[in-house]
Amino acid sequence: MLEIRSIRHCRSCGNKVRYEVPPDDNRERAVCSACRTIHYENPLNVVGTLPVWGEQVLLCKRNIEPRHGMWTLPAGFMEQGETTAEGALRETIEEAGAHVEMQGLYTLLNVTRVSQVHMYYRARLLDTDFAPGPETIEARLFREHEIPWEQLAFRTVRATLQFFFEDRQTGQFTLHCADIA
Ligand code: ZN
Repeated sequence: MLEIRSIRHCRSCGNKVRYEVPPDDNRERAVCSACRTIHYENPLNVVGTLPVWGEQVLLCKRNIEPRHGMWTLPAGFMEQGETTAEGALRETIEEAGAHVEMQGLYTLLNVTRVSQVHMYYRARLLDTDFAPGPETIEARLFREHEIPWEQLAFRTVRATLQFFFEDRQTGQFTLHCADIA
């Protein structure tokens, strides 16, 4: 099982935390040594889209670490108070300045190594007027044979693109759930 000990100081009072199993719990948590606040850590959701324009898909060249200069689908961490689809749309606007019509949830990918769940929605591009934000060097369309497979930023991006080009042969785009080792 994955063990992440990322918290050092209490978010309530600033004192040091210790990892211990609280009463009535069954795993170690960051517990404040002073005020005894328990800080729970849970997986993060990454949400994004697979924007499609005819035969082409939209990729963004990352202007931020990690994986600076590599290509990704528009995606990022979900924010408080938004739905997965709202987050995916927001990231698409922020990173690519793309105008899309959201379609169905397409991939749900567990990345247990880093305690994340990645969700990509299919999206239909309404035009090709992109306006990349500060996190993106370039946003452009790729045909299947142009995809920079060796320069993709994340394995979930690769998996989502692979599912898409497979499904396109039959025209049946159903939800794919997979675990990324
Ligand atoms: Zn505290």
